[in-house]
Amino acid sequence: MSETEPLSEETCSAGDASRPVSPDIAAARAVAIAGAVAETETIDLVDAQGRVLAADVISPMAVPPFDNSAMDGYAVRLGDLTGDGPWTLPVAGRIAAGASLQGSKPGEPQALRIFTGAPVPSGFDAVVMQERCKRDGDQVIISGKRPRMGENIRLAGEDVERGALLASSGEALSPQKLALLAGAGVNNLSLFRKVRIGLISTGSELREPGETLAPGQIYNSNRVVLRAMLSRLTWAQVKDFGIVPDDRSLLERTLNAASSTCDVVVTTGGVSGGDEDHVAAIMRDEGTPLEVVKVAMRPGKPVKVGRLGQAVFFGLPGNPNAALVTFRQIALPAIRTVAGLRDVVPAWQPAVAGFEYGKKAGRTEFVPVRIAGRSEAGVPIVEMLGRGSSANLSAMAAADGIALLPPEDETIRPGMPLRYEAFRMP
Ligand code: AMP
Ligand code: MG
Repeated sequence: MSETEPLSEETCSAGDASRPVSPDIAAARAVAIAGAVAETETIDLVDAQGRVLAADVISPMAVPPFDNSAMDGYAVRLGDLTGDGPWTLPVAGRIAAGASLQGSKPGEPQALRIFTGAPVPSGFDAVVMQERCKRDGDQVIISGKRPRMGENIRLAGEDVERGALLASSGEALSPQKLALLAGAGVNNLSLFRKVRIGLISTGSELREPGETLAPGQIYNSNRVVLRAMLSRLTWAQVKDFGIVPDDRSLLERTLNAASSTCDVVVTTGGVSGGDEDHVAAIMRDEGTPLEVVKVAMRPGKPVKVGRLGQAVFFGLPGNPNAALVTFRQIALPAIRTVAGLRDVVPAWQPAVAGFEYGKKAGRTEFVPVRIAGRSEAGVPIVEMLGRGSSANLSAMAAADGIALLPPEDETIRPGMPLRYEAFRMP
């Protein structure tokens, strides 16, 4: 089957991993060999932002725990408001937030001075906001319309019922979700431990920024782009193995060290078929059979995915744009699976092309784009930056995100709908 043919069911089955697959299938195969980390840990709520829940959280209580006032004003019993207003009532007590009722004689017509968040004593039906009340010594005069039953009272349990599901296993905890849990008095959470990700930059030509380049050498940009993207993942921990030259035994040793201490191992470079491409050779000789060998995408064709010992292995291409795109499209969903997350597919939004571009059919292209405007319907119109070189960093650095050019199209024309992924991590 040539790579221009559409993907069939057969392409998805095991045993044909040497054939190019679509990026979606490559990502799905990686997800299929990934499983959530086995260990969990108990973490205080304040340290749990962005972490992944390993168990459902059930509310131990009703929220709010008691009927309380939504306003500063006067609590009344509708039965005490006889005839048409204005109504004059003695003020029988005062209740501030955090306090309970003082004073008040049951039975007699009365109002209670009450403040926002204070408990509304049973029998009191409504809170009249203070702007409608005039205080006159020990009395209050309430004017305007007859208060409605329950007016300005927040009922116990109206936000959260006791026993309600507050958050589910596999969910990443947002600040607002943490607020919900805090409101229900939950303090300790069972979380998946952080995913350990080993990072190896392969290539004898590589030096780190700050070092001096000898002839033929270049700076390592993949390490920093992957480190930076991973640093945004609150549920990940990076173990950086630095640069390993194109030397089979050195690389083997480093891969062993990485796969025995990490859940995921990501390498860049050395995945094509050349004599110096040892990553591919080591995986062929020592890894379990690869799930993905080639992907019908640009940039990024020679991506390798498989298991290496206990770890899920991603051999990404060396070209920086290819490393970035394949990391996001193919490695990230599986890494999110290892983190315990339920939603692993990258977030994208609809856009329309603001450019014309000819491409090869049968291949998905991921191109750097900038939002140039909005259609009448508010959909971003994207301009393509650069002309699709997988080695040039300038266009990617100037881009707002990446657009996906689908495999079935040979020509992208202005106005065509596209899938757009903004440069922010899920
Ligand atoms: P490879 O996949 O090893 O064949 O590398 C493809 C191209 O990417 C070569 O031109 C490499 O020099 C370059 N390259 C590989 N690794 C990196 C890196 N970490 N940073 C920048 N360029 C790289
Ligand atoms: Mg290389």
